[in-house]
Amino acid sequence: MTMTTMSLPYEEPLVAREPGPRLVPEPPRRGEPGGPPCGICSGRATNAVWSDENWTLHPPVGGSLPGAVWLASRVHVDSFGDLPEPLAADFGRVAARVERAILALGDVGRVHLYRWGDGGAHFHVWFLPRPLGMVEAAGMMLPLWEDALPNVPDKELTAAAERVAAAM
Ligand SMILES: [Zn+2]
Repeated sequence: MTMTTMSLPYEEPLVAREPGPRLVPEPPRRGEPGGPPCGICSGRATNAVWSDENWTLHPPVGGSLPGAVWLASRVHVDSFGDLPEPLAADFGRVAARVERAILALGDVGRVHLYRWGDGGAHFHVWFLPRPLGMVEAAGMMLPLWEDALPNVPDKELTAAAERVAAAM
């Protein structure tokens, strides 16, 4: 199967535009010197549905894909390169567990991982389930579809995340 079915969640034709002027230095992110406080360290994130000594797993707010979760390190470090070596190694193991747990929900074609890091300076990785058969949302299209689809109630997102947690 090819990925040629992948498509934007918008009617075409879209019109390409030029990027704006570069903003340097970039605005500080949450949890970075000069920026707002870290939402994760200050307890403003959603409650964890699962945790161990290294990681916490959280449901999203205002999302459209039940089964989506994000994994954060307990320690406030920015990115992969900042994780202490044992945590960097443990990330692979825990990511595999999260992936298997999301797949166990059923009706999931593939689990996508996204580490953006543009909003907050506390290490966290998104796991998004691509609905089974939704081939137009393959690859980089899934986050766009996630944004464009109607949100499901937060209660439903939390319930799905709790099912993921139970399968960890
Ligand atoms: Zn933090």
